[in-house]
Amino acid sequence: MKVTALAGGVGGAKLAIGLARALPAEDLTIVVNTGDDAVVYGVHVSPDVDIVTYWLAGVADVDRGWGIKDDTFTLVGWLRKLDLEAWFSLGDRDYATCLVRTSRLRDGATLSEATDEVRRRLGVAIKVIPMSDDPVRTSFVTADGRTLEFQEYFVKERHEPEVAEVMLNGIDDAKPAPGVMDAIASADTVVVCPSNPVVSIGPIVALAGVRDALRDHPHVVAVSPIVRGAALKGPADRLLATVGVEVSAAGVAGLYSDFVDVFVFDRVDEHHRDEIESAGVTAVPLDTIMDNANASEQLARGILSL
Ligand code: GDP
Ligand code: CA
Repeated sequence: MKVTALAGGVGGAKLAIGLARALPAEDLTIVVNTGDDAVVYGVHVSPDVDIVTYWLAGVADVDRGWGIKDDTFTLVGWLRKLDLEAWFSLGDRDYATCLVRTSRLRDGATLSEATDEVRRRLGVAIKVIPMSDDPVRTSFVTADGRTLEFQEYFVKERHEPEVAEVMLNGIDDAKPAPGVMDAIASADTVVVCPSNPVVSIGPIVALAGVRDALRDHPHVVAVSPIVRGAALKGPADRLLATVGVEVSAAGVAGLYSDFVDVFVFDRVDEHHRDEIESAGVTAVPLDTIMDNANASEQLARGILSL
């Protein structure tokens, strides 16, 4: 059974490790959002791609959710000492990953080639594909009229500002990376991970051809990142409200209903089942809280049995 998963950062990474435990490596492909990418301290940071890769490699700091476990922060510490406004915490090992990526890009490699080299060196047998080799850069217009780049909003301002508009800059000119369309078309099951629907899944689905490919696919299964009417972490709930979507599993089901066949939502939201089904998807309640790798695997196996 071949499976392709669409993922952002932590929510995607958690389900990816479950799928990795449930499937042979050659049958699994993870397509990852790059709308959060940025150049920081001279290197190309690709946060979601790295989170997914680090989790699959077993080197992630799973408590913090980003970065590498036991990493040190000597570089950022010294930058701060030198008075650079170093608000983006990037561990030393994490920086090295980004430096390798940047130097490969400078040599003419594509982002997907560089990503493939990094994941192989980290011993990850599962294919991890950035959604596009072309730049897509998510930014935000705040309610007080400022434009913030993704990391300024997310990290510098700790996703506190009220957002009036989400912009996916470059999306109209970006093509899916090599392998993305084929990974979707050739999969027996496409899994939409419980990632941020607006800024993680949104950019992937907005790439030319992807939404249509998902609509044409007979078996797309999405997992709700919204449980009990809230995000488990991060601003997904507030960003859904910004784009006019009800902040509930049913709201996400409605947002995805044109390209998703089966919608998995948490058992605690069982009372929303009818509302979810009225969006036109098959609603399946499962335990979706992935507190540890066993929970991830159990959810993955539940999805694969649908
Ligand atoms: P980011 O890029 O690290 O912000 O992460 P993602 O875009 O992948 O996902 C953020 C979303 O993942 C949030 O809305 C969370 O509610 C959701 N999420 C995180 N962990 C879990 C989990 O264990 N279960 C479910 N259902 N959702 C989760
Ligand atoms: Ca992210």
